Amino acid sequence: MDRTLLYLTDIAAIEQALLPTTKVIYLECPTDHNFMLVDLKALASLAKNKGIRTIIDNTWSTPLFQKPLTHGIDIVVHSTSKYLGGHSDLMGGAVISNKQIISKLFTYEFILFGGIMPPQEASQLLRSLRTLPIRMARHTANALKVAKFLESHSAVEAVHYPGLPYHPDYELGQRQLTGYSGLLSFTLKNATYGTVKEVINKASISNWCIVGFL
Ligand SMILES: *Cc1c(COP(=O)(O)O)cnc(C)c1O
Repeated sequence: MDRTLLYLTDIAAIEQALLPTTKVIYLECPTDHNFMLVDLKALASLAKNKGIRTIIDNTWSTPLFQKPLTHGIDIVVHSTSKYLGGHSDLMGGAVISNKQIISKLFTYEFILFGGIMPPQEASQLLRSLRTLPIRMARHTANALKVAKFLESHSAVEAVHYPGLPYHPDYELGQRQLTGYSGLLSFTLKNATYGTVKEVINKASISNWCIVGFL
């Protein structure tokens, strides 16, 4: 299988990289780790013109902050283990699409292969959804504080968070997102393996989750 690595923000580059055999564009927006945004409307319209299906992992934004179906994306997937669950006591996922696609998935995939959420977890998820708007507003406010602290820190070269006005995709975010969620990344000045390791080891805030570095 051919694999092409691209910056998804560059729609023209995506168009060039498409092959006559391309069937699906699977994306995440914001993109993982560098938090660049993808113009969902432009991407969906490019894909539709060529008969390509689009699938987005919308876990970072939650359905509150980004609504990809309204921009023409075909299928939205979520981990419900994160913000949607919110209490670290359930694991699950969700697929959202139109009736025709969901009915196919239900008949041919879900019934045969699907992991089926037990009633206990389903009820915990319903409980969690009731507080989602409050939790997401707080996540956004807290992350913005952390981002501002980091951007003013002398050891930090750049903060990657679409809620900061100097983020390269800030304007697109204003049109496409209604909140910025709680996950961000940053680059150290003159980073080495040693300095990055030191920062991770010194991070004492228990709610920080450092998942990796580039
Ligand atoms: C965590 C995560 C997943 C995987 O979710 P699990 O419920 O842990 O399997 C998928 N996509 C994104 C963007 C995530 O952050």
